[in-house]
Amino acid sequence: MRIEQHPLTASMPGTTRTLPSLHFGPETSTRKAYIQCALHADEPPGLLVGWYLRQRLADLEAQGSVLERIVLVPMANPIGLQQRILGRGLGRFELSSGENFNRNYAELSEAAFDRLQAILRERAPNLAEVRTVLRDAANALRCDTELDSLRATLLGLAIDADLVLDLHCDNEAVMHLYTTNWSWQTFAPLAGLLGARAALLSDDSGGGPFDESCSMLLGKLAALIAARTDHRFAAEFACEATTVELRGETDVTHDFARTDAEAIVDFLIHRGYIAGDPVAVPTPCTATPLEGSMPVPAPVGGVLIHRAPLGATVSKGELIAEILDPSAGSLTPVFSPVDGLLFARESGRVVPAGLRIAKVAGSVALRRGKLLTA
Ligand SMILES: [Zn+2]
Repeated sequence: MRIEQHPLTASMPGTTRTLPSLHFGPETSTRKAYIQCALHADEPPGLLVGWYLRQRLADLEAQGSVLERIVLVPMANPIGLQQRILGRGLGRFELSSGENFNRNYAELSEAAFDRLQAILRERAPNLAEVRTVLRDAANALRCDTELDSLRATLLGLAIDADLVLDLHCDNEAVMHLYTTNWSWQTFAPLAGLLGARAALLSDDSGGGPFDESCSMLLGKLAALIAARTDHRFAAEFACEATTVELRGETDVTHDFARTDAEAIVDFLIHRGYIAGDPVAVPTPCTATPLEGSMPVPAPVGGVLIHRAPLGATVSKGELIAEILDPSAGSLTPVFSPVDGLLFARESGRVVPAGLRIAKVAGSVALRRGKLLTA
C-alpha cells in the first residue's frame, strides 16, 4: 500500500488540511478502480467500510492478488468532518459557501479537447492519451478555495479510472445505489453482492454529482470530438461509476461494514481487479428509473411518525406516515404517491412543512429536470 497525502488549499493561514489516498496494485496497470468514502462527511458507514477495505486490500496485495490499480480514499471530506454546529455534525454542505460537497464538479471535456488539438490534426486519440490530458486538465483546475481544492483533488484521483464507487448513505434507508442506464449491467452484480434493494438509474440526474462527472466525461468528450472533427475515439463509456448508499447514517456496525467491504472485494474479483474465484452473485434487485423515485414532502410541520417500515412495498395512496400538530391537536396523514419500494426515510422526528420525509422508488418515470436533492 502506497499512501499519498494531498494538502488542500487552506482557506485561512495555518489551517491546511490533508486528504490521504491509498494506492494498491501494480502502478503499471492500465486498469484502475477508484473508491471513495463519505464525500458527505456526516455519512459515516462508508468510513468504516473503507477501514475494512484498507486492511483487506493490503492483505490481498501482500499475497500478490491485487492485479490492477485500486485507489481508496478512506475519508473523502476532511472539511465537512470538522463542521459542527451546536454539537451536531454537518457534512453535506460546506458552511462558508452553502454548496453541496457532491455537486458542481468541473466539466473537463473542453479543457481536454484543447489539449488534444495536436493529435486531432492527424488522428483520433487513444484512451491512454485521453486520460493523460484529463489528468493534466484536472491538475490545472484553479483552486482558490478549500472546496475547489477538495473537488479538484478527488476528481484528479478518479478521472482516469475505469470503475468508480462513491460510498454514501441516506438518512434512514435500505441498501441502494445510483448509476446510469448503460452501466447497470456492470453494477448489477455489485447490487446483488451488497444485497441492494433498489437501483435507481438516470443518464443525467442534474447538478454534476461526483459519479456522473467521472462517468459522463468521456461521452461528452467523444461528442465534442465528433462535432468538431471527423475523428472519433472508441472509449466513450470507458469509465463507469456508481453512488452506493450504505443504508442509513446510524447503520455503522462491524457486521454491516465487514460484509459490505467483502461484497466490494467480491465485486472487484468479479471484474478482474483482484485474483480469486468469483463467488456466485445473488440475483440483483430490479432497477427502476431515478425519474420514478418519488420524494414525499411533509404537507405540514410537526412531529413525524413513520407508519410504514423501511423496505416496505407500498401502494399508491397507502398511509406511510403521520404528522402531529401538537398545538392544534391534529394528525395529518401522509400517503405514498406511487406504487413502489419505500427505500429511504427522514431520520429527524420533528419536521417543517415541505421537508422530504420519505422516498418511494416507483417503476414509472414521472419526474424531470434536476432529480437529486439540493
Ligand atoms: Zn451522500
